[in-house]
Amino acid sequence: MSLIECSPAHVRALSPYVPGKPIGALAREFGLPESSIIKLASNENPLGMSPRARLAAEAALQEAYRYPDQYELLALLARKLGVDSAQIVLGNGSNDVLDLAARAFLMPGTSAVLAQYAFAVYSLATQAMGAASLIAPARQYGHDLVAMRALVREETRIVWIANPNNPTGTFLPWREIHDFIADLPRTVLVVLDQAYDDYLPSGLRTATESWLGEFDHLLIVRTFSKIHGLAGLRIGYGLGSPAVIDLLNRVRQPFNVNHVALAAAVAALDDHPFLADSHRLNQQGMELLVHGLKRLGLEHIPSQGNFISFAVPDAAEVNRKLLAQGIIVRPIAGYGLPQHLRVTVGLPEENARFLAALAKAL
Ligand SMILES: *Cc1c(COP(=O)(O)O)cnc(C)c1O
Repeated sequence: MSLIECSPAHVRALSPYVPGKPIGALAREFGLPESSIIKLASNENPLGMSPRARLAAEAALQEAYRYPDQYELLALLARKLGVDSAQIVLGNGSNDVLDLAARAFLMPGTSAVLAQYAFAVYSLATQAMGAASLIAPARQYGHDLVAMRALVREETRIVWIANPNNPTGTFLPWREIHDFIADLPRTVLVVLDQAYDDYLPSGLRTATESWLGEFDHLLIVRTFSKIHGLAGLRIGYGLGSPAVIDLLNRVRQPFNVNHVALAAAVAALDDHPFLADSHRLNQQGMELLVHGLKRLGLEHIPSQGNFISFAVPDAAEVNRKLLAQGIIVRPIAGYGLPQHLRVTVGLPEENARFLAALAKAL
């Protein structure tokens, strides 16, 4: 047997996550200047990073020779969210927290439940632990909680839920998720991924952290990658019961979150002007994109995120034609949506250029 064949079968069967195409890659492939390229493929904040976070990150670089200390961000999050700092785990991006949950609770012989079209990392993290993914068919592209509940078995240890979900942008009322969690056996951890929570209109928001008093089998996962604009620094967090967080901390690398990211997150968390600007820009951009897609006669999946997925006659071909015009969107055939493309809401001029390029590509 070769060394490679000695790797567990579930590891060898993994297909790595496919990220949005980087600007540099398109520039090299098509010989385009980088400055002419618009990337609307990874749900990044088109306004960039919070200016306060940038200043804090620049200052923090001076102390980057020291190992990072999580104390300040943990204390700030605890105060802001009304939880104990022992209920928070920090991650190198929220993907890291998803992975910690899988490592703490999954192994061969166990299973995790997720929805069709759910965020790709859930099945990857599950498979990496040798556990089985039980996939509930979607309802109108969104999570069907009744179908998900029906899949939960004795050996199920995690249910993955994204609300809103990526790449569909679908949203479930919080009351339904609350009742779903209440109905589950306490031997199943619900991982509730709220990466896009900050983009919800205020009327749809709920402080899910208040559920932690009620549920020990809930892990809430949030990120600084989206509205806070820190995707490249890699920082997110999880909220759970002290006992669950203690388990995640056992499988966590001691210095998983870097010093610069910690400082930036502290500054970004309460940069309310930047967050409000980002929210408003997203709402306006979403309206423009929805209107533009309708005008082109294209169906879209109504989205509560900072992106929208829409159907075209030939997604691979339309994608190629967009790339040739310097526009990067995200094909989502890998999610089982071969007719759809996902576009991130950009700056007004980016949205306009995207719609014009799309009209040409059709
Ligand atoms: C973007 C995204 C994340 C964030 O990932 P990070 O590792 O924090 O950058 C998490 N969950 C979903 C569903 C996402 O779309």
